[in-house]
Amino acid sequence: MHLKRTAILCLLFLVKKNFVLAQEMTYTVSPVLSDTSYFHVELTCKGFSADSLQFSMPEWTPGYYQLMYYASSVCNIRATDAKGNTLSWKKADKNSWWIYNKSADIFHLQYDVLSTKSFVASNYLEADKGYISPAGMFMHLKAHIEQPVTLVVKPINGWNVATGLKQLPDQQYTYIASDFDVLYDSPILMGKLETFPSFDVQGKPHYFIAYRPREFDRAAFMKDLQKIVSTAADIIGDIPYDNYTFLGIGPGMGGIEHLNSTTVSFTGSNLNNREGKIGIYNFLAHEYFHHYNVKRIRPIELGPFDYDHGSKTRLLWVSEGFTVYYEYIILRRAGLTTPDDVLKELQDNIRSYESKPGRLIQSLADASYNTWSDGPFGAGDSSISYYEKGPVLGALLDLKIRHETRNKHSLDDVMRALYREYYQDKKRGFTEAEFRSVAERVAGVSLAECFDYANTVKMPDYKKYFGYAGLDIAVKDGSFAITRRKSMNALQQSILRDWLR
Ligand SMILES: [Zn+2]
Repeated sequence: MHLKRTAILCLLFLVKKNFVLAQEMTYTVSPVLSDTSYFHVELTCKGFSADSLQFSMPEWTPGYYQLMYYASSVCNIRATDAKGNTLSWKKADKNSWWIYNKSADIFHLQYDVLSTKSFVASNYLEADKGYISPAGMFMHLKAHIEQPVTLVVKPINGWNVATGLKQLPDQQYTYIASDFDVLYDSPILMGKLETFPSFDVQGKPHYFIAYRPREFDRAAFMKDLQKIVSTAADIIGDIPYDNYTFLGIGPGMGGIEHLNSTTVSFTGSNLNNREGKIGIYNFLAHEYFHHYNVKRIRPIELGPFDYDHGSKTRLLWVSEGFTVYYEYIILRRAGLTTPDDVLKELQDNIRSYESKPGRLIQSLADASYNTWSDGPFGAGDSSISYYEKGPVLGALLDLKIRHETRNKHSLDDVMRALYREYYQDKKRGFTEAEFRSVAERVAGVSLAECFDYANTVKMPDYKKYFGYAGLDIAVKDGSFAITRRKSMNALQQSILRDWLR
């Protein structure tokens, strides 16, 4: 009897199971040009049988640590069942909505997203270009952030589409994301775009796709970019993605890093003069190196992300500041700048930081944590910028490690160890204590003074640290001039040579 009953239950389960749809979410997005341009979004959900479901739009996009209030750009919401009958909905809170799908296995949700601000973290649409910052375009189901999603992009005739998302074979502009974190990490550029000649590094293809780039030598530019990518990859020793795409969105400010792509404001207009070229190369090296430092080598708070409130960390001085420092190092090692260029960048960072009244009030760690309210650039008299003090502390830490290990180890070893131990092995981010522990293990000594420079407002002893590389630093008219000493010992000579090789 017991066996028979079990068999019937199993059979019933199998029969019922046949009728349960696999959970699927498919988005279709199309640009609509009008007086107020917007993207029209349609979502088909299958297999989410419930009386009501809560859909949510993130409040920010990882990489840009400011609340963006994306939900305020959503309008014309409409929900229907498979037969086209209207389903009711209501706003649940500032960035989510209840959809009353009455247990329908299949239902559709449509809405429009106003797209009028040209910025890397915003959605934007104009006559011949569209840009989607996905965290501000696609709602996820609460508690289903891990749901795989299919995305169909329907560009205007004559446009093409560029994104780091994986495209389905033989289905133009149809993409898949393994979850919403991946979707939110994959911006989409569309319009009349130009693709520059691609290159491979360690067998992985790298693309640069740009909206209306100006006149410059594309081949020479991509050759230099290849050197940047290759040098950055050599520092960490591994390329973790299948392909990488630079998305040049045209004029503007800023860039945002992603796991296998970056969005950069780019026209190429300054590539024809040396200073402009170095500025652009620094910027591209920065965004590229971020796919290691912050996307994979990351503070523990930066994943899983809190899309509703923002994810606060006290370590942006590492994630952002050290990435600025590595811009300088990468360009130098790629042979695109001189040792003096690196020293000048550091001088400028020191001058800028030391001229801010906030240096006596706010530590680097506090600047990281408070960036959500203070902004990242040290505005006002009470805050500082981790983009300025961060790279300087990166340099001091690098020199200290080189000095203490008789130039056998450097900050590179710290970054590699973090990548290996936390990203690859533990598959998570690190705490402040863990970061310090790895750095001190590589240095073989306490780095208490360096960490004081991060956690307090104590003035760095520049003279001592630059002295490790046989350099002097003098204050003159508010500037900090770094010069080479006339006589250096063997260790100083070898540190200077390898540091700025
Ligand atoms: Zn950055």
